[in-house]
Amino acid sequence: MKLSRRRIFGLVAALAVIIALGAALCFPALERHYMRKQAAQDAVPLNLAAEGLRAALERYAPLPALIAERAELARLLNNPDDATLLAMVNEDLRQTGATVKASDVYLMDISGRTIAAASYREPGSYLGRNFNYQSYFTQALTGDLSSFSVYGTTTGERGYFYAAPVEDGERIVGVLAIKFNISAFESIWRGADSEFMVADRNDFVFMSSRPDWHFRAKRPLSDATLRLIAQNLQYPIDRIDLLPITATPLNEDAQQVYIEGEPRESYVLTSLRLNDLDWTMSALSPRKPATLNALNTLLIAGLFASLALAALLAYLLKQARQSEALAREQEAKRLLEAAVAERTADLQTALGDLRQTQTDLIQAGKLSALGQMSAALSHEFNQPLAAVKSYADNATAFLDRDRLPEAKDNISRISKMADRMATISAHLRNFARRPQQATGPLLLNTVIQDALAVIDMRLASEGGTVNYTSPTTEVWVTGGHVRLQQVIVNLINNALDAMEDQPNRVVTMTVEGTTLHVRDTGHGIEPAKVANIFDPFFTTKAPGKGLGLGLSISFNIVSDFGGALSAANHPDGGAVFSVALQPATPLEVAAQ
Ligand code: ADP
Repeated sequence: MKLSRRRIFGLVAALAVIIALGAALCFPALERHYMRKQAAQDAVPLNLAAEGLRAALERYAPLPALIAERAELARLLNNPDDATLLAMVNEDLRQTGATVKASDVYLMDISGRTIAAASYREPGSYLGRNFNYQSYFTQALTGDLSSFSVYGTTTGERGYFYAAPVEDGERIVGVLAIKFNISAFESIWRGADSEFMVADRNDFVFMSSRPDWHFRAKRPLSDATLRLIAQNLQYPIDRIDLLPITATPLNEDAQQVYIEGEPRESYVLTSLRLNDLDWTMSALSPRKPATLNALNTLLIAGLFASLALAALLAYLLKQARQSEALAREQEAKRLLEAAVAERTADLQTALGDLRQTQTDLIQAGKLSALGQMSAALSHEFNQPLAAVKSYADNATAFLDRDRLPEAKDNISRISKMADRMATISAHLRNFARRPQQATGPLLLNTVIQDALAVIDMRLASEGGTVNYTSPTTEVWVTGGHVRLQQVIVNLINNALDAMEDQPNRVVTMTVEGTTLHVRDTGHGIEPAKVANIFDPFFTTKAPGKGLGLGLSISFNIVSDFGGALSAANHPDGGAVFSVALQPATPLEVAAQ
């Protein structure tokens, strides 16, 4: 997989966004999970609180029946006008109330009118008040020994009431009631982590650790319920309002609730049914810990995800770096190859140019050779032709005057000129045709001696010496006698030509192995011309003195023998020409 850096960052960013989105989507479920857990934890203190409440309520249940057994009570009910008895009962009730820490202990006659009370000395005393409408009273009248209810109408103070009938023999003559202040229970709940509330069957909250939740309904009360409450004067109807609570169930016993207000409160609500009392007790713990737990979990998961992403990023970046390096390497290689190819193409072009130049030079060389040849030939032939013409004119003039001998002389001169031109022509033909003639073993010394005999005539007329000592042993070489002699004569002639303007003209010939060296003491060869002297028609001599064919022909002859002709300048001056020949088996030896 090949990814650019930008792609990698894009991919990782996309993954990060996906993870963040996933986290955002997971959060509510996670939070609900922790809220359920919290509810399960809250169930413990809730059960304890409920047990505490139930135990407290039960503790005082038998109390009214015990007090009601006091004989003075029945007596007072039978003699309500006995002031002494009333004073005694009042004081007795006050002491009892103080002992059990009740907020009031009071005695009602059969009509429900309060005739004696522990609070007889206090301003808002129940004395004289009629409670025949209260359910605890009516229940007690029917013989219930521990009727119980919660009210808050009379004093605005919420109380719970126990009542028992006062009997005179088999007859019920009155009701004794004890009121406890409900807030005494609530005070135990204060300081707990959770808030508590207790609601009756109508979801009417009458107890709570939060005073502002007292007398508030968790759901709108029906008209019938409201009527009943008003009728019983159970609660201060004008204070009843709705607790603005919205709930989302978490499970059977738990809900997530909001209580609207400033600020809006959010709780995990855990409920417990108190079936015997027909109440529901709830613990409300702030939702914050569950939210924080969910956030923590997501944070840790996010941390791990980030680590994983970072690792992925690092891995992909490393991969990208490697493939970039590889690409760079390949690019460098490609550039190198391209450079090499370009250079090769350049060289090829250069080579092509060189070949073209070579071809051009060869062509130019041919043309120059042709030019040199034309110049040489026209001179060689023009001079004798001009002579022939003047001899012919002379002969004609002599004939006109009948001077025959002179005419004859001129005609014979014409014949000589013709011979000379024939010689030149033969020379050219030789050069052009290079006839293949047989080669064989030659005694080198014999050929040299024959060549010297040809040269002798020139030496006699022009002066000059040839130093040559025959080798002590026979030197057999491969070649053709006449042609090798022609080569040697040509070399000696050139040597004499080179020394023409010198008083002391010596040609030295030595045999070294199968090589013959011909050295002179002339002007030598101009170094720049050494390469050209074997070219046909190359000559430095004045017109009419040389055709420039001698060395070219000699070179080809020696090559035909399988040998080599070379030229050099001698360190002591003058030129040295070397005829290197192939050794040959002597004829006599071959014959044997
Ligand atoms: P030609 O003698 O007609 O010029 P050759 O082919 O024999 O033609 O010689 C070519 C040229 O080589 C001469 O013109 C001369 O310049 C040079 N050359 C030949 N032999 C000698 C020599 N011994 N010393 C100096 N230059 C020489």
